[in-house]
Amino acid sequence: MTDTRAVHTRTRGARLRRPAPSLVEPVHTDLLVSPVEGGSTINELDLATELLANARDVVLVAHIHPDADALGSALALGMGLARRGKPVAVSFAEPDLVPESLRGLPGAHLVVAPDDLPPHPDLLVSLDVGSVERLGSLARLFDTCRQSLVIDHHASNTRFGQFHYVDAAADATVVMVARILDRLGIPIDREMGENLYAGLATDTGHFRHADPDAHLLAARLIEAGVRPPDVMLPITDSHPFGWLGMLSSVLGAAVLDTGAAQGRGLVYTIIDDDVRAGLRPEELDSVIDILRTAQEAGVAAVLKQTSADSWQVSLRSREPINVAAAAAALGGGGHIRAAGFTHHGDPMLAVDALRAVLDR
Ligand code: 5GP
Ligand code: MN
Repeated sequence: MTDTRAVHTRTRGARLRRPAPSLVEPVHTDLLVSPVEGGSTINELDLATELLANARDVVLVAHIHPDADALGSALALGMGLARRGKPVAVSFAEPDLVPESLRGLPGAHLVVAPDDLPPHPDLLVSLDVGSVERLGSLARLFDTCRQSLVIDHHASNTRFGQFHYVDAAADATVVMVARILDRLGIPIDREMGENLYAGLATDTGHFRHADPDAHLLAARLIEAGVRPPDVMLPITDSHPFGWLGMLSSVLGAAVLDTGAAQGRGLVYTIIDDDVRAGLRPEELDSVIDILRTAQEAGVAAVLKQTSADSWQVSLRSREPINVAAAAAALGGGGHIRAAGFTHHGDPMLAVDALRAVLDR
């Protein structure tokens, strides 16, 4: 059996507890098969619930450089399972610490460094991860866990686990986590709710693109005690003063190419290490939300320098342009209107490559 003590390494004095009794009637999960492409999501939800209920211990992993949906999903689910006595750990491969803007999310005591995770988790769960490379070095756990479950809302999900609960119609992975918690009969309290709210607000563009399910969940979370302005203040609503100067430079240097994207227009800007001036990734990530409001452009791109030779490119689009397809053609992925890819070399070559795929 897996050494569950390792799961709690470096957590705040958490004690090893016996595996919880099943939260729902046990089933022989080995006999269950994940529905084929286009299969019923309801069955996948049942399957995910059963796997989690029956697992002896659970490792929940988010994508590298986790955002509020990835980390919030893992923390909310982790807190819910921990409250039922199940040994759980939450992790992500990069960076070494929880991004500063997400440190106020409850449940941080569940976060375990990759090297301290149990090498053979009974159930490995990835959250908000569309393809296995997005797990970075933690992809190795898929080879050593007993069972794996992929919970995600990317339409491009490559179904890289053993079992899957993928719902491209869900606005955020946290919506799917809330459904699982409901199935498990685990009440969503304020602390779990803050994690769910953070993922919901960020992935829906602060409810601009939210469907009724997302609005209904938000209402429930607020009733559970979540205070949206308090939750969102560190995540999207505050920046160091230096952010204003950086914004002024990179927005002032933005380029509009009205002929790109088959005449629908491309606006882009480049944030290199000089203009970044030591600001956090959080400050850089905010730029795309302003750039994408340019009326003349159907596509917006921000190229962010991540090392001497590497650039992370954020893409946003308006209907009917599919930037998930464009990003996939360039080695990345994402959602139809919000996607990204990594580029090595001269950033202008990334812009040229992007123009080429948008013209196809
Ligand atoms: P953002 O621009 O906010 O960093 O990313 C937007 C979306 O694009 C994310 O939800 C994520 O799904 C996807 N994405 C961003 N960068 C990459 C990448 O390098 N590879 C893949 N596969 N997806 C990415
Ligand atoms: Mn998401």
